[in-house]
Amino acid sequence: MNRKRAFFWACGIGSLAVFGACGTAPQTTPPPAGYVPNYDGGQGNAADSSTVQSGSSGSGSGSSSGSSSGSSSGSSSGSSSGSSGSSSGATDSGTPGCAGGTCLNPTCQPLGTPADIGTYASLGFENNPTTTQPAYIPNDVIIPTFDDVPDGPQTTGPGWTALDLQLLDSFDMHVDFFINTNNWCGDVTKVPECTSDILDILANHNPANHTIYHPHMGATDNTGTNGNPDGCSTAADCQSELTGVETVINTMSNGATPHLTRFRMPYGEPQQSSVNCADPSTCVAMVEGVVAQFAVGIGWNFDSGDSSGATYTGASLATQVEGYVGSAPGQGDWGIILQHGVYQWTHDAIPLLYDPTTGYFPTHGFRLGTVEDAICWKYGMHSWEIVQQLTGQPRSPN
Ligand SMILES: [Zn+2]
Repeated sequence: MNRKRAFFWACGIGSLAVFGACGTAPQTTPPPAGYVPNYDGGQGNAADSSTVQSGSSGSGSGSSSGSSSGSSSGSSSGSSSGSSGSSSGATDSGTPGCAGGTCLNPTCQPLGTPADIGTYASLGFENNPTTTQPAYIPNDVIIPTFDDVPDGPQTTGPGWTALDLQLLDSFDMHVDFFINTNNWCGDVTKVPECTSDILDILANHNPANHTIYHPHMGATDNTGTNGNPDGCSTAADCQSELTGVETVINTMSNGATPHLTRFRMPYGEPQQSSVNCADPSTCVAMVEGVVAQFAVGIGWNFDSGDSSGATYTGASLATQVEGYVGSAPGQGDWGIILQHGVYQWTHDAIPLLYDPTTGYFPTHGFRLGTVEDAICWKYGMHSWEIVQQLTGQPRSPN
């Protein structure tokens, strides 16, 4: 989510009549110093907030959505032949999807029977009638994810993404970041702090694609006054949102990371919410078809609520998350948690939740995993192996 998400939702929830006005709002201007989102208040969990916040410990099916296509053989990791020269900035990413060696499923074992990858593999947005929890993830595992990064500097100092990275690196935490290359920061290649943030992510964390501009995928592009698209309604247009990020990351990594095989749709659209899509079924099929050519779609199992439109302190956000997960594993939500690397309260909540000695999760019996752990638990294959199988094209680990 981003500024335009909040703005759009605040003004666009009801009427098409105001859609145009919303669509002309500035979309990618970096937030000002000390930026506090100016929401329209009381919107609660908006566009890409999760509907799966209060599940109990039921055992869902974790079914895959696909059909046909026989079981995979767990094909070998297709190494790309892209230029192999190691990058000066991203040299120690460790095992792909397991940066820092701190994942829980490094040998990529399925948890139970591997799901069929079908024609589009994805995690998150479980919608089982009896449970909203992901059965393919052990219920004591929390998978932190941070979206919309990087945000770029504030006038008074580093942006929240840079500060988050400092904190996470100090905790020796290695998490999943979903990158936009022209959103909060503007063009990340033109802002040194943003370039530095991305190099830190490539070196110490698990990078993932979140589109260039953070558009409403499947929605008509009501291009904003800044000239950046806020929708993509054709396959070619949506595809450019994925390839654009891969190109930037490939360049920044000196060819070490040509592919990003984990992808999250901005706002969770059109899968979780199709409010911006004229024909939801068509939009979903189109967008999933595009994403499947590049990545496994990554939703979330529960939403921290940090971009819900409410304002928080670090303590109040942490308290909210603690309420979602409960006092011990199995008492509430688990799995992939949606957070954003662009808010002060999210930054301030990080030590309260994750500090290895005092944080809520470590002191309440939870383990921290990675998105790639969950992909492997569900499918018994890495994301790049899945994409390789779906496309027949080599995809290098990332
Ligand atoms: Zn986002």
